[in-house]
Amino acid sequence: MLYYTPSVARLIEELAKLPGIGPRTAQRLAFHLLNQPKERAMALAQAIVDAREKVGYCSICCNLTDEDPCQICSDIKRDRSIICVVEEPKDVIAMEKTREYRGLYHVLQGAISPMDGVGPDDLKIRELLQRINEEVEEVVLATNPNVNGEATALYLAKILKPLGVKVTRLAHGIPVGGDIEFADEATLARAFLGRREI
Ligand SMILES: [Zn+2]
Repeated sequence: MLYYTPSVARLIEELAKLPGIGPRTAQRLAFHLLNQPKERAMALAQAIVDAREKVGYCSICCNLTDEDPCQICSDIKRDRSIICVVEEPKDVIAMEKTREYRGLYHVLQGAISPMDGVGPDDLKIRELLQRINEEVEEVVLATNPNVNGEATALYLAKILKPLGVKVTRLAHGIPVGGDIEFADEATLARAFLGRREI
């Protein structure tokens, strides 16, 4: 980093902390930003500041939101008898794109992963259990079909079933080891429609 002036070095350093951005890409992005008209770079910086300041977590479903409760939780047209449990906010977006699902969501903010030291208490599971009442008939476990996602689904099924709620899991069709986020809309819609009780 000695070759750069300190402010450029700092920009590259910050960009390189983003997921999927290596030092070379960080350098390319930094020079791109500096080559653009000043307003363009300022608009990006302002968008980051605004999003970071405005966005928080929904107190009901734990999804990212500008307002609490979020738009989905406060939408009276959504079916309140079904809750779809996903790992990350981006999975909600993937499910919404299928247009097949009209129920509510719950975002765990991760998956159980003993390797990474993530246990049930590190996820939004207590918040999920608090939502289970007479109104809720079904919980769809839409965690990813990989080791951590499956472990999380099994754990949740074990604690949800005694509460008298129907627990289903997305059907296969999403590649094993794959990611909900990357499933195409048709595949994800099929997996939802073919969900089965566990
Ligand atoms: Zn919400």
